[in-house]
Amino acid sequence: MVFIKFVMCTNILAVAVGAPGVFKTDADYNEVSSYDFPFVSREQWSARTAKEKLPLQTPVPYVVIHHSYTPAACYDGIQCRQAMRSMQNFHMDDRDWWDIGYSFAVGSDGAAYEGRGWDVIGAHALHFNNVSIGICLIGDWSDCLPPTNQLKTAQALIAAGVELGYVRADYKLVGHRQVRDTMCPGDTLYEEIQTWEHYSHFPSTVDDLPKVKEIYLILE
Ligand SMILES: [Zn+2]
Repeated sequence: MVFIKFVMCTNILAVAVGAPGVFKTDADYNEVSSYDFPFVSREQWSARTAKEKLPLQTPVPYVVIHHSYTPAACYDGIQCRQAMRSMQNFHMDDRDWWDIGYSFAVGSDGAAYEGRGWDVIGAHALHFNNVSIGICLIGDWSDCLPPTNQLKTAQALIAAGVELGYVRADYKLVGHRQVRDTMCPGDTLYEEIQTWEHYSHFPSTVDDLPKVKEIYLILE
């Protein structure tokens, strides 16, 4: 079953980029020496200035994984920058949030895109933003897996967060649906992250949130 899903993704990929040899990455733009993956700063994707920001208390105990659903997966730096701008516009203009909601996003080009960053409270998981970093894997991952480079960069980004002291070494990894009534991050990606180190079955649904001690420790 997983194999079939992977084949579906590969087909979509082939349609999107024409041929595997034309992948463009943002390796040339990698200015952050501590990252061993392509990283695209807000400036580099022409982010709008946040209306306001609040500091996030770090290191955070949780990492929340999302998919964008829309926009669809992006396979090069041009498409992914466009996806970032479109998500930011939607969050700021339609949702009336201060900025793009996610802490970071990762494209199918294998690059990580800076959202609110490590030390600003996000707007990605209601009631859980104070205790987590939110990472969005751009695309709809309900029926197929993101490409390997996208998964690897998401994992490397989390590892960098631990190394830089923004994410607790014993962090717990959860899917958005575990803390909010939503299908995010898509069935297939949700299955995938359950195999990742640090995946936690708790909280399992939004009903568990009152039992998440970290939320209340921070509020006190
Ligand atoms: Zn989500």
